[in-house]
Amino acid sequence: MSLSQKDILNISSKKPEDEAALALIETRRDAMIEQTIEWAKINTGSWNADGLQTFAPILQEALSQLGAEVVSHPTKPIEKINDQGEKTYFQSGPVFTVTARPEAPVKIIFTGHYDTVFPPGTFEEITDIGDGKLNGPGLADMKGGIVVMLEAIKAFEAGPHKSKLGYSIVLSPDEETGNFASAPFIAEAAKDAHIGLTFEPSMESGAMSGARKGSAIYDFIFKGRASHAGRAPEAGRSALLAAAEFALGIEKLDAAMDTVTFNVGAIDGGNAVNIVPDNAVLRLGIRAPNQTLADLAVRSLETLMKKVLQRDGITAEMVGSFYRPPKPRNAAQSELFEAAAATAHVIGQSLTFQDTGGVCEGNNVFNAGTPNIDTLGVRGGSIHSPDEFVVLDSFTERAGLTALLLNRLADGRIDAAHIKSLMKEDQD
Ligand SMILES: [Zn+2]
Repeated sequence: MSLSQKDILNISSKKPEDEAALALIETRRDAMIEQTIEWAKINTGSWNADGLQTFAPILQEALSQLGAEVVSHPTKPIEKINDQGEKTYFQSGPVFTVTARPEAPVKIIFTGHYDTVFPPGTFEEITDIGDGKLNGPGLADMKGGIVVMLEAIKAFEAGPHKSKLGYSIVLSPDEETGNFASAPFIAEAAKDAHIGLTFEPSMESGAMSGARKGSAIYDFIFKGRASHAGRAPEAGRSALLAAAEFALGIEKLDAAMDTVTFNVGAIDGGNAVNIVPDNAVLRLGIRAPNQTLADLAVRSLETLMKKVLQRDGITAEMVGSFYRPPKPRNAAQSELFEAAAATAHVIGQSLTFQDTGGVCEGNNVFNAGTPNIDTLGVRGGSIHSPDEFVVLDSFTERAGLTALLLNRLADGRIDAAHIKSLMKEDQD
Protein backbone atom coordinates (compact mmCIF):
# COMPACT_ATOMS: atom_id res chain seq x y z
CA MET A 1 0.00 0.00 0.00
CA SER A 2 2.75 2.48 0.75
CA LEU A 3 5.94 3.02 -1.24
CA SER A 4 8.82 0.54 -0.96
CA GLN A 5 12.29 1.62 0.11
CA LYS A 6 13.38 1.09 -3.49
CA ASP A 7 10.64 3.40 -4.82
CA ILE A 8 11.61 6.08 -2.33
CA LEU A 9 15.32 5.88 -3.25
CA ASN A 10 14.37 6.10 -6.90
CA ILE A 11 12.13 9.12 -6.39
CA SER A 12 14.68 10.94 -4.25
CA SER A 13 17.54 10.48 -6.72
CA LYS A 14 18.51 13.47 -8.86
CA LYS A 15 18.73 12.99 -12.64
CA PRO A 16 20.28 15.38 -15.18
CA GLU A 17 16.85 16.61 -16.26
CA ASP A 18 16.12 17.52 -12.63
CA GLU A 19 19.33 19.57 -12.48
CA ALA A 20 18.40 21.27 -15.73
CA ALA A 21 14.88 22.17 -14.56
CA LEU A 22 16.15 23.56 -11.26
CA ALA A 23 18.82 25.62 -13.02
CA LEU A 24 16.29 27.06 -15.44
CA ILE A 25 13.91 27.98 -12.62
CA GLU A 26 16.75 29.66 -10.71
CA THR A 27 17.20 32.07 -13.64
CA ARG A 28 13.49 32.98 -13.36
CA ARG A 29 13.54 34.05 -9.72
CA ASP A 30 13.31 37.82 -10.22
CA ALA A 31 10.86 37.51 -13.11
CA MET A 32 8.51 35.38 -11.00
CA ILE A 33 8.56 37.86 -8.13
CA GLU A 34 8.04 40.84 -10.45
CA GLN A 35 5.11 39.21 -12.21
CA THR A 36 3.45 38.37 -8.89
CA ILE A 37 3.83 41.97 -7.71
CA GLU A 38 2.34 43.33 -10.95
CA TRP A 39 -0.61 40.95 -10.64
CA ALA A 40 -1.18 41.76 -6.95
CA LYS A 41 -1.47 45.46 -7.83
CA ILE A 42 -4.74 44.72 -9.64
CA ASN A 43 -7.56 44.24 -7.16
CA THR A 44 -9.41 40.99 -7.85
CA GLY A 45 -11.69 40.75 -4.84
CA SER A 46 -14.20 37.96 -5.42
CA TRP A 47 -17.09 40.46 -5.67
CA ASN A 48 -15.14 43.04 -7.70
CA ALA A 49 -16.53 42.31 -11.16
CA ASP A 50 -14.56 45.15 -12.78
CA GLY A 51 -11.30 44.02 -11.21
CA LEU A 52 -11.79 40.41 -12.30
CA GLN A 53 -12.58 41.57 -15.85
CA THR A 54 -9.52 43.85 -15.88
CA PHE A 55 -7.19 41.08 -14.75
CA ALA A 56 -8.62 38.36 -17.02
CA PRO A 57 -6.84 39.38 -20.27
CA ILE A 58 -3.55 39.78 -18.40
CA LEU A 59 -3.86 36.25 -17.07
CA GLN A 60 -4.91 34.96 -20.49
CA GLU A 61 -1.79 36.49 -22.03
CA ALA A 62 0.41 34.70 -19.45
CA LEU A 63 -1.36 31.40 -20.13
CA SER A 64 -0.97 31.78 -23.88
CA GLN A 65 2.82 31.59 -23.41
CA LEU A 66 2.47 27.89 -22.59
CA GLY A 67 1.80 27.09 -26.25
CA ALA A 68 -1.30 25.05 -25.38
CA GLU A 69 -5.00 25.54 -26.01
CA VAL A 70 -6.34 28.36 -23.80
CA VAL A 71 -10.08 28.97 -23.49
CA SER A 72 -11.83 31.76 -21.60
CA HIS A 73 -15.25 30.51 -20.44
CA PRO A 74 -17.95 32.98 -19.36
CA THR A 75 -19.44 31.83 -16.04
CA LYS A 76 -23.04 31.53 -14.92
CA PRO A 77 -24.11 34.22 -12.43
CA ILE A 78 -23.58 33.23 -8.79
CA GLU A 79 -26.80 33.10 -6.75
CA LYS A 80 -26.81 34.91 -3.40
CA ILE A 81 -29.64 35.19 -0.88
CA ASN A 82 -30.01 38.79 0.32
CA ASP A 83 -31.09 39.89 3.79
CA GLN A 84 -34.74 39.83 2.72
CA GLY A 85 -34.42 36.19 1.67
CA GLU A 86 -34.56 37.07 -2.04
CA LYS A 87 -32.30 35.61 -4.70
CA THR A 88 -29.79 38.00 -6.28
CA TYR A 89 -27.13 37.27 -8.87
CA PHE A 90 -23.47 38.24 -9.29
CA GLN A 91 -21.59 38.00 -12.55
CA SER A 92 -18.06 36.84 -11.78
CA GLY A 93 -15.07 36.76 -14.16
CA PRO A 94 -14.29 34.03 -16.68
CA VAL A 95 -12.86 30.60 -15.91
CA PHE A 96 -9.71 29.83 -17.89
CA THR A 97 -8.89 26.34 -19.04
CA VAL A 98 -5.69 25.24 -20.70
CA THR A 99 -5.33 21.84 -22.35
CA ALA A 100 -2.08 20.23 -23.49
CA ARG A 101 -1.49 16.74 -24.89
CA PRO A 102 -4.76 15.14 -23.75
CA GLU A 103 -3.70 11.82 -25.35
CA ALA A 104 -0.53 11.49 -23.24
CA PRO A 105 -0.35 8.46 -20.91
CA VAL A 106 -0.11 10.53 -17.70
CA LYS A 107 -2.67 13.28 -17.14
CA ILE A 108 -2.39 16.05 -14.56
CA ILE A 109 -4.91 18.69 -13.54
CA PHE A 110 -3.52 21.96 -12.24
CA THR A 111 -5.90 24.32 -10.47
CA GLY A 112 -5.74 27.76 -8.96
CA HIS A 113 -7.73 30.93 -8.45
CA TYR A 114 -7.19 34.55 -9.37
CA ASP A 115 -9.66 36.13 -6.95
CA THR A 116 -8.70 37.37 -3.49
CA VAL A 117 -10.71 38.02 -0.32
CA PHE A 118 -10.00 41.78 -0.41
CA PRO A 119 -12.63 44.21 -1.73
CA PRO A 120 -11.24 47.25 -3.60
CA GLY A 121 -9.85 49.93 -1.31
CA THR A 122 -9.31 47.66 1.68
CA PHE A 123 -5.75 46.39 1.20
CA GLU A 124 -3.85 47.36 -1.91
CA GLU A 125 -0.29 48.30 -0.91
CA ILE A 126 2.70 46.07 -1.51
CA THR A 127 5.38 46.52 1.14
CA ASP A 128 8.83 45.08 1.67
CA ILE A 129 8.71 43.94 5.30
CA GLY A 130 12.32 42.72 5.43
CA ASP A 131 13.57 39.21 6.14
CA GLY A 132 13.03 38.36 2.48
CA LYS A 133 9.27 38.84 2.71
CA LEU A 134 6.73 41.02 0.94
CA ASN A 135 3.35 42.04 2.34
CA GLY A 136 0.50 42.48 -0.13
CA PRO A 137 -2.94 41.27 -1.21
CA GLY A 138 -2.94 37.89 -2.94
CA LEU A 139 0.86 37.63 -3.19
CA ALA A 140 0.64 34.26 -1.43
CA ASP A 141 -3.05 33.45 -1.92
CA MET A 142 -2.53 32.92 -4.71
CA LYS A 143 -1.19 35.00 -7.54
CA GLY A 144 2.28 33.83 -6.49
CA GLY A 145 0.99 30.26 -6.73
CA ILE A 146 -0.21 30.75 -10.31
CA VAL A 147 3.20 32.15 -11.26
CA VAL A 148 4.92 29.14 -9.65
CA MET A 149 2.60 26.77 -11.52
CA LEU A 150 3.34 28.32 -14.92
CA GLU A 151 7.12 28.43 -14.41
CA ALA A 152 7.18 24.81 -13.24
CA ILE A 153 5.30 23.68 -16.35
CA LYS A 154 7.68 25.61 -18.61
CA ALA A 155 10.75 24.12 -16.91
CA PHE A 156 9.29 20.61 -17.17
CA GLU A 157 8.47 21.10 -20.85
CA ALA A 158 12.03 22.22 -21.60
CA GLY A 159 13.13 18.73 -20.49
CA PRO A 160 12.97 15.30 -22.16
CA HIS A 161 9.63 13.93 -20.82
CA LYS A 162 7.11 16.35 -22.29
CA SER A 163 5.39 13.85 -24.59
CA LYS A 164 4.61 11.45 -21.72
CA LEU A 165 2.56 13.91 -19.70
CA GLY A 166 -0.51 15.89 -20.68
CA TYR A 167 -2.31 18.38 -18.54
CA SER A 168 -5.22 20.69 -18.06
CA ILE A 169 -5.25 23.88 -16.02
CA VAL A 170 -8.39 25.41 -14.52
CA LEU A 171 -8.10 28.94 -13.10
CA SER A 172 -11.17 30.23 -11.28
CA PRO A 173 -12.46 33.73 -10.42
CA ASP A 174 -14.48 32.64 -7.35
CA GLU A 175 -12.51 30.24 -5.14
CA GLU A 176 -12.62 32.46 -2.08
CA THR A 177 -16.42 32.42 -2.15
CA GLY A 178 -16.75 28.68 -2.82
CA ASN A 179 -16.18 28.08 -6.57
CA PHE A 180 -19.92 28.24 -7.18
CA ALA A 181 -19.42 29.36 -10.79
CA SER A 182 -16.24 27.43 -11.54
CA ALA A 183 -16.82 24.08 -9.79
CA PRO A 184 -18.26 22.35 -12.90
CA PHE A 185 -15.09 23.19 -14.88
CA ILE A 186 -12.88 21.74 -12.15
CA ALA A 187 -15.01 18.60 -11.88
CA GLU A 188 -14.93 18.06 -15.63
CA ALA A 189 -11.17 18.51 -15.97
CA ALA A 190 -10.36 16.55 -12.80
CA LYS A 191 -12.28 13.39 -13.47
CA ASP A 192 -10.00 12.10 -16.23
CA ALA A 193 -6.74 13.21 -14.62
CA HIS A 194 -4.54 10.86 -12.61
CA ILE A 195 -3.19 13.45 -10.19
CA GLY A 196 -4.18 16.98 -9.16
CA LEU A 197 -1.78 19.78 -8.28
CA THR A 198 -3.21 22.95 -6.73
CA PHE A 199 -1.17 26.01 -5.82
CA GLU A 200 -2.59 27.35 -2.57
CA PRO A 201 0.13 28.74 -0.31
CA SER A 202 1.80 26.43 2.17
CA MET A 203 2.64 27.64 5.64
CA GLU A 204 5.70 29.80 6.24
CA SER A 205 7.52 26.69 7.52
CA GLY A 206 6.72 24.91 4.27
CA ALA A 207 4.18 22.58 5.92
CA MET A 208 1.54 21.42 3.47
CA SER A 209 -2.12 20.52 4.02
CA GLY A 210 -2.98 16.86 4.54
CA ALA A 211 -6.59 15.84 5.11
CA ARG A 212 -9.17 18.58 4.75
CA LYS A 213 -12.64 18.68 6.24
CA GLY A 214 -15.63 19.21 3.99
CA SER A 215 -17.36 22.56 4.12
CA ALA A 216 -21.01 23.47 3.72
CA ILE A 217 -22.77 26.81 3.48
CA TYR A 218 -26.51 26.96 4.09
CA ASP A 219 -28.97 29.83 4.11
CA PHE A 220 -32.21 29.09 5.97
CA ILE A 221 -34.93 31.47 4.85
CA PHE A 222 -37.66 31.79 7.48
CA LYS A 223 -40.96 33.49 6.62
CA GLY A 224 -43.64 34.51 9.11
CA ARG A 225 -46.33 37.22 9.10
CA ALA A 226 -45.82 40.91 9.79
CA SER A 227 -48.14 42.83 12.08
CA HIS A 228 -48.10 45.96 14.20
CA ALA A 229 -46.46 45.03 17.48
CA GLY A 230 -48.69 47.45 19.43
CA ARG A 231 -52.07 47.21 17.73
CA ALA A 232 -52.18 43.55 16.60
CA PRO A 233 -49.28 41.57 18.01
CA GLU A 234 -51.39 38.39 18.02
CA ALA A 235 -51.71 38.59 14.22
CA GLY A 236 -47.93 38.44 13.73
CA ARG A 237 -45.73 35.37 13.38
CA SER A 238 -42.08 36.16 14.06
CA ALA A 239 -39.65 34.67 11.57
CA LEU A 240 -36.81 36.05 13.65
CA LEU A 241 -37.84 34.08 16.75
CA ALA A 242 -38.11 30.92 14.65
CA ALA A 243 -34.57 31.55 13.38
CA ALA A 244 -33.39 32.16 16.93
CA GLU A 245 -34.91 28.87 18.13
CA PHE A 246 -33.22 27.14 15.21
CA ALA A 247 -29.88 28.72 16.13
CA LEU A 248 -30.12 27.44 19.70
CA GLY A 249 -30.90 23.97 18.37
CA ILE A 250 -27.80 24.17 16.19
CA GLU A 251 -25.73 24.96 19.26
CA LYS A 252 -26.87 21.64 20.78
CA LEU A 253 -26.04 19.80 17.55
CA ASP A 254 -22.59 21.31 17.58
CA ALA A 255 -22.02 20.10 21.12
CA ALA A 256 -23.32 16.62 20.29
CA MET A 257 -21.22 15.99 17.17
CA ASP A 258 -17.59 15.78 18.17
CA THR A 259 -15.67 16.30 14.95
CA VAL A 260 -18.32 18.29 13.09
CA THR A 261 -18.50 22.03 13.66
CA PHE A 262 -21.55 24.22 13.07
CA ASN A 263 -21.27 27.99 13.05
CA VAL A 264 -24.24 30.35 12.81
CA GLY A 265 -22.45 33.23 11.14
CA ALA A 266 -25.39 35.66 10.97
CA ILE A 267 -29.11 36.05 11.28
CA ASP A 268 -30.36 38.76 8.96
CA GLY A 269 -33.91 40.03 9.12
CA GLY A 270 -36.47 42.01 10.99
CA ASN A 271 -37.19 45.68 10.84
CA ALA A 272 -38.45 48.29 13.30
CA VAL A 273 -39.21 47.30 16.90
CA ASN A 274 -42.93 48.02 16.39
CA ILE A 275 -43.26 45.39 13.64
CA VAL A 276 -43.40 41.63 14.18
CA PRO A 277 -40.68 40.48 11.72
CA ASP A 278 -41.91 38.37 8.85
CA ASN A 279 -38.52 37.38 7.49
CA ALA A 280 -35.16 36.11 8.72
CA VAL A 281 -32.22 34.49 6.99
CA LEU A 282 -29.92 32.34 9.10
CA ARG A 283 -26.44 31.83 7.63
CA LEU A 284 -24.76 28.59 8.66
CA GLY A 285 -21.33 27.10 8.00
CA ILE A 286 -20.57 23.42 8.69
CA ARG A 287 -17.27 21.52 8.60
CA ALA A 288 -17.19 17.71 8.63
CA PRO A 289 -14.22 15.30 8.37
CA ASN A 290 -15.88 12.69 6.15
CA GLN A 291 -18.93 12.10 3.98
CA THR A 292 -20.76 9.93 6.53
CA LEU A 293 -20.67 12.69 9.13
CA ALA A 294 -21.48 15.34 6.51
CA ASP A 295 -24.64 13.39 5.61
CA LEU A 296 -25.52 12.93 9.28
CA ALA A 297 -25.10 16.67 9.89
CA VAL A 298 -27.52 17.52 7.09
CA ARG A 299 -30.10 14.97 8.27
CA SER A 300 -29.86 16.36 11.82
CA LEU A 301 -30.52 19.87 10.52
CA GLU A 302 -33.57 18.69 8.59
CA THR A 303 -34.94 17.08 11.76
CA LEU A 304 -34.27 20.24 13.74
CA MET A 305 -35.99 22.34 11.11
CA LYS A 306 -39.15 20.18 11.33
CA LYS A 307 -39.26 20.93 15.05
CA VAL A 308 -39.01 24.69 14.48
CA LEU A 309 -41.70 24.52 11.80
CA GLN A 310 -44.18 23.34 14.43
CA ARG A 311 -44.42 27.04 15.28
CA ASP A 312 -47.67 28.33 13.85
CA GLY A 313 -47.51 30.35 10.64
CA ILE A 314 -43.80 29.81 9.94
CA THR A 315 -42.34 28.43 6.73
CA ALA A 316 -38.71 27.80 5.95
CA GLU A 317 -36.50 26.99 3.00
CA MET A 318 -33.01 25.44 3.18
CA VAL A 319 -30.66 26.61 0.42
CA GLY A 320 -27.09 25.34 0.14
CA SER A 321 -24.91 22.26 0.15
CA PHE A 322 -21.61 20.71 1.12
CA TYR A 323 -20.07 22.68 -1.71
CA ARG A 324 -16.69 21.25 -0.81
CA PRO A 325 -16.94 17.58 0.18
CA PRO A 326 -14.35 16.23 2.66
CA LYS A 327 -10.86 15.27 1.49
CA PRO A 328 -9.76 12.62 3.98
CA ARG A 329 -6.40 10.81 3.96
CA ASN A 330 -7.05 7.62 2.05
CA ALA A 331 -4.55 5.20 0.53
CA ALA A 332 -4.14 7.31 -2.60
CA GLN A 333 -3.53 10.55 -0.71
CA SER A 334 -1.06 8.88 1.65
CA GLU A 335 1.01 7.44 -1.17
CA LEU A 336 1.02 10.72 -3.06
CA PHE A 337 2.15 12.60 0.06
CA GLU A 338 4.93 10.04 0.53
CA ALA A 339 6.07 10.45 -3.06
CA ALA A 340 6.05 14.25 -2.76
CA ALA A 341 8.09 14.08 0.43
CA ALA A 342 10.65 11.83 -1.27
CA THR A 343 10.80 14.28 -4.20
CA ALA A 344 11.40 17.21 -1.84
CA HIS A 345 14.48 15.43 -0.46
CA VAL A 346 16.16 16.11 -3.81
CA ILE A 347 16.20 19.83 -2.96
CA GLY A 348 16.98 19.28 0.70
CA GLN A 349 13.49 19.90 2.03
CA SER A 350 11.47 17.76 4.38
CA LEU A 351 7.77 18.09 3.65
CA THR A 352 5.17 17.55 6.31
CA PHE A 353 1.43 17.30 5.74
CA GLN A 354 -0.87 18.64 8.44
CA ASP A 355 -4.60 17.97 8.60
CA THR A 356 -6.78 21.08 8.54
CA GLY A 357 -10.36 22.26 8.80
CA GLY A 358 -9.70 24.66 5.91
CA VAL A 359 -10.98 23.87 2.44
CA CYS A 360 -9.93 24.62 -1.13
CA GLU A 361 -10.16 23.39 -4.71
CA GLY A 362 -8.26 20.26 -3.61
CA ASN A 363 -11.56 19.14 -2.04
CA ASN A 364 -13.29 19.50 -5.41
CA VAL A 365 -10.54 17.63 -7.26
CA PHE A 366 -10.68 14.82 -4.68
CA ASN A 367 -14.44 14.64 -5.00
CA ALA A 368 -14.03 14.12 -8.75
CA GLY A 369 -12.03 10.98 -7.91
CA THR A 370 -8.53 12.41 -8.31
CA PRO A 371 -5.87 12.33 -5.58
CA ASN A 372 -4.09 15.64 -5.20
CA ILE A 373 -1.66 17.90 -3.40
CA ASP A 374 -3.17 21.34 -2.96
CA THR A 375 -0.56 23.53 -1.25
CA LEU A 376 2.21 23.60 -3.85
CA GLY A 377 2.18 27.38 -4.05
CA VAL A 378 4.55 29.80 -2.37
CA ARG A 379 5.29 29.80 1.34
CA GLY A 380 3.58 32.59 3.23
CA GLY A 381 1.31 33.48 6.08
CA SER A 382 -1.44 35.66 7.60
CA ILE A 383 -3.51 35.03 4.47
CA HIS A 384 -7.01 36.57 4.34
CA SER A 385 -5.71 39.46 6.47
CA PRO A 386 -3.93 42.76 5.70
CA ASP A 387 -0.77 41.10 7.08
CA GLU A 388 -0.62 38.57 4.24
CA PHE A 389 2.97 37.95 3.24
CA VAL A 390 5.01 35.82 0.88
CA VAL A 391 8.51 34.41 1.44
CA LEU A 392 10.54 35.39 -1.63
CA ASP A 393 12.87 32.37 -1.58
CA SER A 394 9.87 30.11 -1.94
CA PHE A 395 9.17 31.01 -5.59
CA THR A 396 12.13 29.02 -6.92
CA GLU A 397 11.78 26.35 -4.22
CA ARG A 398 8.17 25.62 -5.03
CA ALA A 399 8.50 25.87 -8.80
CA GLY A 400 11.49 23.52 -8.50
CA LEU A 401 9.55 21.05 -6.38
CA THR A 402 6.67 21.02 -8.88
CA ALA A 403 8.98 20.57 -11.88
CA LEU A 404 10.64 17.62 -10.12
CA LEU A 405 7.22 16.10 -9.39
CA LEU A 406 6.32 16.43 -13.07
CA ASN A 407 9.58 14.76 -14.14
CA ARG A 408 8.78 11.82 -11.85
CA LEU A 409 5.13 11.55 -12.82
CA ALA A 410 6.14 11.56 -16.49
CA ASP A 411 8.97 9.02 -16.29
CA GLY A 412 7.02 6.68 -14.01
CA ARG A 413 9.18 6.99 -10.91
CA ILE A 414 5.95 8.21 -9.34
CA ASP A 415 3.27 5.85 -10.68
CA ALA A 416 0.32 8.17 -11.35
CA ALA A 417 -2.06 5.47 -12.60
CA HIS A 418 -1.35 3.29 -9.57
CA ILE A 419 -1.98 6.16 -7.13
CA LYS A 420 -5.23 7.01 -8.91
CA SER A 421 -6.31 3.35 -8.69
CA LEU A 422 -5.95 3.52 -4.90
CA MET A 423 -8.85 6.01 -4.80
CA LYS A 424 -11.19 3.06 -5.25
CA GLU A 425 -10.09 1.67 -1.88
CA ASP A 426 -10.98 3.11 1.51
CA GLN A 427 -12.62 6.49 1.08
CA ASP A 428 -12.37 7.54 4.68
ZN1 LIG B 1 -6.43 30.59 -1.97
